Amino acid sequence: MTFLKDRLKKALDGLLMSRVKSSGQFVVPGQRLGVIEEFVPNSGTYVKDGYIFSSSVGYVLIDFVNKKVSVYPVARNINVPRIGSIVLGWITGVQNSSATVQIVKVGRKFLSGHFTGIIHISDVSHRYLDNMYDAFRIGDLIRAKVISDKNKTFHLATKDENLGVLYAFCSQCGGILIKRRSLRCAVCGTIEKRKIASDFGKGVL
Ligand SMILES: [Zn+2]
Repeated sequence: MTFLKDRLKKALDGLLMSRVKSSGQFVVPGQRLGVIEEFVPNSGTYVKDGYIFSSSVGYVLIDFVNKKVSVYPVARNINVPRIGSIVLGWITGVQNSSATVQIVKVGRKFLSGHFTGIIHISDVSHRYLDNMYDAFRIGDLIRAKVISDKNKTFHLATKDENLGVLYAFCSQCGGILIKRRSLRCAVCGTIEKRKIASDFGKGVL
């Protein structure tokens, strides 16, 4: 019964989360293509926790007869994060020891794809940090460096002076934080902490 429930849940999740419905759709690495119950993963794909993901930047080919899904890679010079890339992104989640980032720009170019990065607490700052909430909050715009792409996950770091939060918003009222001696909400005056970049609030994106 539990097994069936799990299967049903996975199939439903697959239907809900899957963005790929037909051949020819442009996909990026890490984008979900389906579940292993629906398709046999073929070239340009990988499987994790029962889901099939794209491992390339390219176009999906779904063979409905043989139930196979593949990704045909496009030219390599397309803009994707690489080790050493400087990226811009929004903080989408903060946990005790890590934060997740939606990467929106690599180098000077904005992306059309969906790339997710993760920052571990030990990669935030040269100083010891015991609470991730003192570095980032959801909605912050940050600049970070890609330090690893192990297991198809972009691991980011903000240790350098020029890396960290560029814009941040008050967790109490949503007002923009202004840097004086500390970071202070322009609307309600709340004082907050962040790992800021040296050009915090200067508008340089
Ligand atoms: Zn405020």
